[in-house]
Amino acid sequence: MKSLPEHVRQIVNEIETEIGDDPGGAIERVPLGGPENGRVEAAVREILAEIGEDPDRPGLVGTPDRVHRMYTELTAGYHVDPARLVNNAIFDVDYSEMVIVKDVPFYSLCEHHLLPFFGSASVAYIPRGRVIGLSKIPRIVEMYARRLQIQERLTQQIADFIQIQLEPQGVGVVLEATHLCSVMRGVRKPGTVMTTSAVLGLFRSRDKTRAEFLAHLERRPPGA
Ligand SMILES: [Zn+2]
Repeated sequence: MKSLPEHVRQIVNEIETEIGDDPGGAIERVPLGGPENGRVEAAVREILAEIGEDPDRPGLVGTPDRVHRMYTELTAGYHVDPARLVNNAIFDVDYSEMVIVKDVPFYSLCEHHLLPFFGSASVAYIPRGRVIGLSKIPRIVEMYARRLQIQERLTQQIADFIQIQLEPQGVGVVLEATHLCSVMRGVRKPGTVMTTSAVLGLFRSRDKTRAEFLAHLERRPPGA
């Protein structure tokens, strides 16, 4: 297993396993902060100086270290092992109706600006004899969201992962997100939401299936 700072290893473990799960082997403990070569810290100091700040003033002294830790946490998804994530959670069932998990919150980082984009994901599939544990869907979203992303690719990766793991009759994924790189810069348009979708199998080929999926997305859950 790769050497990861402890705080990142914890996040990876949370995505891969559930409370009570056997984490599957000893977890390697490495000191907080991980391998310290100081490159990120030095780079952040450069940025601070370049924008006209004093990296040595009290409020900023700890910033390079915090930024380094933060980025390793926000990109912990690169270290998630998909096999551990799905471990023991794929079940054979005689069920072939649509399964939908709606409004899964996610936070990701735009790879063009390293600024957050965030929103919610809805994931649906039509099983072909196999389903995945409900709690795994948010973890799949998390595994791909905690990376440098563009929303289109994040959407597609979630769909492809379910396709490969379950070989279902179809998969549909819709993401709605606000991008800080869009709302914080230039003309201010708070509330601008980008929607992306990826559809495979029946969700792509059959209008009725796609329409059923979209109708489900519009329906509010009981009590909401
Ligand atoms: Zn951006």
